[in-house]
Amino acid sequence: MGYWKDVQERLGGGNPEAHDDEYVCAACIADEGLQGFIEGEAGARVCTFCGAESDDPIAAPLVEILLYMSDCLDREYDAAENKLPHDSAEGGYIGQIWTTEQILAEHLGDELPNDDDGALMEALCDGLGDRAWCRKHPFSLTDDEKLNFSWDEFSELIKYRRRYFFLNEGRDDQEIYSPLALLNELAGWCECFSLVKPVSSDLPLYRARFQKPDEVLSSTADLGPPPQDKATMANRMNPPGIVMFYVCDDAETALREVAKDPVKDAGRYVIGEFRVKRDAKILDLAEIPSVPSIFDYMPDCLEYDPRPPLIFLNYFAAELSKPIARDRSIHVEYIPTQVVTEFFRTAFLHDGKPIDGIRYQSARRSDHRSLVLFATQGDLVDGALSENLFPDREHWIEMTDRAEQYVTVDDLERWNREAPEPFEWV
Ligand SMILES: [Zn+2]
Repeated sequence: MGYWKDVQERLGGGNPEAHDDEYVCAACIADEGLQGFIEGEAGARVCTFCGAESDDPIAAPLVEILLYMSDCLDREYDAAENKLPHDSAEGGYIGQIWTTEQILAEHLGDELPNDDDGALMEALCDGLGDRAWCRKHPFSLTDDEKLNFSWDEFSELIKYRRRYFFLNEGRDDQEIYSPLALLNELAGWCECFSLVKPVSSDLPLYRARFQKPDEVLSSTADLGPPPQDKATMANRMNPPGIVMFYVCDDAETALREVAKDPVKDAGRYVIGEFRVKRDAKILDLAEIPSVPSIFDYMPDCLEYDPRPPLIFLNYFAAELSKPIARDRSIHVEYIPTQVVTEFFRTAFLHDGKPIDGIRYQSARRSDHRSLVLFATQGDLVDGALSENLFPDREHWIEMTDRAEQYVTVDDLERWNREAPEPFEWV
């Protein structure tokens, strides 16, 4: 078999021979997976497409890039003729199909920064050939869809249909995980991506409280988690009655989390600074690895494709920290996160031990983090109940500083303007 025939067969069609003398540099493709490939295969000193020149090799043969892209796309797509039934009366495939241009626009649409005239995209489409693509398994959910849909279904179930006896709720649809199976999947992927992390005793953690004009909040008990009889509010991670300790990564984020209403919330606040005193481990949902590109290099020894679980974990973490209007709807909207939190607090073990909290993206301030610690007053050094009720308990959180700050109406209006928009997944 001739060389070009072989290449054409490996590509599944296309016109690679027409691009024999073309080379692409890493600056022309922003996708990190393809950049890595180009850098590894660079043999030419001039890029055909942007004209960049160098004394060292900077550009890889377009045909080699096409072969690599084709191998990557084969992990998730196939040719429609291999998988989909054809309706000869209508003259089309039954099922979702994409053209080569659509596939490349989906995965490379924003990643060709120098391609103002479209020549590179055109060459890629021509090299791969104009054909109908379909999903590799067109009649079942992809692994990320299965996880994402299971989470949506889980949320719907516990918000609107069942509240307490739901874990083994069966599924008519075998493609969706039961609630318990989904929680176990979630826990497994959190371990797989090493999301359980230590909290350093050097890390300051902040909680803010409004201080009325006639009171002074000064003690650890004042600024720590609420005592049990005051824990009457539904919050993102806890239902009424179950005490948890909400802290933030800096003082202003702690203020923004509690001071929201420009009409009612201006005034003097006290901010407690805390530190943990022992090895504490938390589930970190604020720093989930981003979803790798379909063109990322995947070694053969990798036991799983990281894209589906990372698509799910990023979706889940965004759902977990999405802004929710503080009206009556919180009693319903926070239930799924409360259940997940209870699962990680009571049923999940890391290295045989329970974890101490969950970190997540602040719903009030982009690029800052909130942290819920599974702690009550009894966990604090000098907490309200420590001497009486929990003499033998380890007191592992200590207040290390206290500050006051006046929050103005202007602050509140600005903070509301800067708050993340309610999250919408598309
Ligand atoms: Zn270039």
